[in-house]
Amino acid sequence: MELSKLFRLVGLSAYDVCHEKCVFDPFRHVYRSGKLNLLKTLISSSCSYDCLYCHNAWNKGHKATPDEIADLFDYMRERRLVNGAFLSNSISDPEKSMGDIIEAGEMIRKSFRGYLHLKIIPGCNRDQIERAVELANRVSVNLESPSYSILSELCSTKSRADFSRTFRLALKLSKRCGKSFTTQLIAGVGETDRQILNVAERIYRNGASRVYYSPFRPVKNTPLGGKNPERKKRITKLYRADALIRLYGFSARKLSEVMETEFLPDEDPKILLAMKKIEAGEELETLEIPGVGLRKAKLLEKGHSLAELKRLGLSVKRESVFLKSQKRLADFSIY
Ligand code: SF4
Repeated sequence: MELSKLFRLVGLSAYDVCHEKCVFDPFRHVYRSGKLNLLKTLISSSCSYDCLYCHNAWNKGHKATPDEIADLFDYMRERRLVNGAFLSNSISDPEKSMGDIIEAGEMIRKSFRGYLHLKIIPGCNRDQIERAVELANRVSVNLESPSYSILSELCSTKSRADFSRTFRLALKLSKRCGKSFTTQLIAGVGETDRQILNVAERIYRNGASRVYYSPFRPVKNTPLGGKNPERKKRITKLYRADALIRLYGFSARKLSEVMETEFLPDEDPKILLAMKKIEAGEELETLEIPGVGLRKAKLLEKGHSLAELKRLGLSVKRESVFLKSQKRLADFSIY
């Protein structure tokens, strides 16, 4: 096992987001994502596609075999460095690339029942998608852009038909088997927040577990190497809006009410929408109250007052400000 080659493939998988707070430990070659320490790796970085932003399209690649990846996982697991794996691949031929991911996943599964995330390669066949869903806890197909016209400018070799067939099938099968399905959108390559949120909403309504937003970062020796990186602040705002859609049931259309341009405002959209409703003399639904998350909403809906929430040690300062003008303040009042 040539560790240096394999660790180069681990480093090159950085462009796949596995969690919004995923951090790479370059000394242990491990990606930390919550309680998971992941071996996140490509099996090969030799790609025949031409994505303008991607290192693998424009630089000499490295290749491993599925059994080398499985051996690397065992090696790192024996040393207690990892407790999960996320396998991805560049694309030579879609079925061959997906076949390698599945083969490595099957070898890992012989002795490991823990977390396994497998990337699904657009253009692979139905049996492969079924097998990947069967093996993995989570599968993902990266959408990359909310607009096909932007995607086709970024990559002339990706087929729209392959892409949407694979995406829909993987989402449907993972939902049917109770497995997690995620996707990734790159922010900063010409799309607007409005486009991103409209697409994210559709994906969530179809049963995806998460949409991740990856800020565009210029990579040396690629055609977009001189382009400015996307601002961190935009990604933070996208995740904030994403939580409103995913967890609180806000629609993308609702969020667009507080967007003066095609982009999210700097202020928290939940606060702006609450203020708009209050000014119009309307009452806020529980999850529309700024400061109220899922836990507090459950307690309030069970009939607990703000005073009781406060006694439970929860802060209710923000909520009480927004509830002052409501009739329900009588129920919620802490004064
Ligand atoms: S398909 Fe595009 S993004 Fe994926 S590895 Fe190949 S060049 Fe990179």
